[in-house]
Amino acid sequence: MYLKRLEIQGFKSFADTLKLDFNKGISAVVGPNGSGKSNIADSIRWVLGEQSAKTLRGSKMEDIIFAGTQNRKPLGFAEVTITFDNSDGKIPISFGEVSITRRIYRSGESEYSINGTSCRLRDIYELFMDTGVGKEGYSIIGQGQIDRILSSKPEDRRFLFEEAVGIVKYKNRKLEAEKKLEIERQNLIRVEDIISELE
Ligand code: ATP
Repeated sequence: MYLKRLEIQGFKSFADTLKLDFNKGISAVVGPNGSGKSNIADSIRWVLGEQSAKTLRGSKMEDIIFAGTQNRKPLGFAEVTITFDNSDGKIPISFGEVSITRRIYRSGESEYSINGTSCRLRDIYELFMDTGVGKEGYSIIGQGQIDRILSSKPEDRRFLFEEAVGIVKYKNRKLEAEKKLEIERQNLIRVEDIISELE
């Protein structure tokens, strides 16, 4: 699996559609200060489901929509599409290419899709769970993050290893199953109460 393409429209400083094609191996984004290099990394975090405006260096989510310049009006929405090559099948979906799109309007409403089909944010989280990609993945290492990882508590650092060995999915499923079991336990107690009242 590798990052193949990024399409950005109306996101931060990119008012016009920007298409970036990546090849296998190392790619570098270079440019003068303030030209939008970090905005590209932000767009990747955002399309993969980032919900914190602070992480995207804004104060509210609307800040990621192109705010206009002296010669150009602000835009009403932002959209980013990220495409991964999935010929090795690392992403658990039967497509050789996987595209995730996120669009946001000034009202705050967000829309997500996987290969053009509308989906929930949860579907995107689940798709990338245990791949190292995704909002909580280790594929984007921001400034200061290495320091934070090294100085974090072992139990917090453990999450990174769990993602790398691929057990986050199972831990989440276990938690969900335990929640359902607890609800059923409560239901059973209620049923037993009703039966004893009837007897
Ligand atoms: P440096 O090398 O200094 O870190 P950079 O190339 O990483 O810079 P970015 O931080 O990605 O640059 O981009 C900053 C620019 O993006 C600023 O000029 C800022 O005004 C612009 N910008 C951020 N949000 C928006 C927005 N919503 N609308 C328009 N422009 C925006």
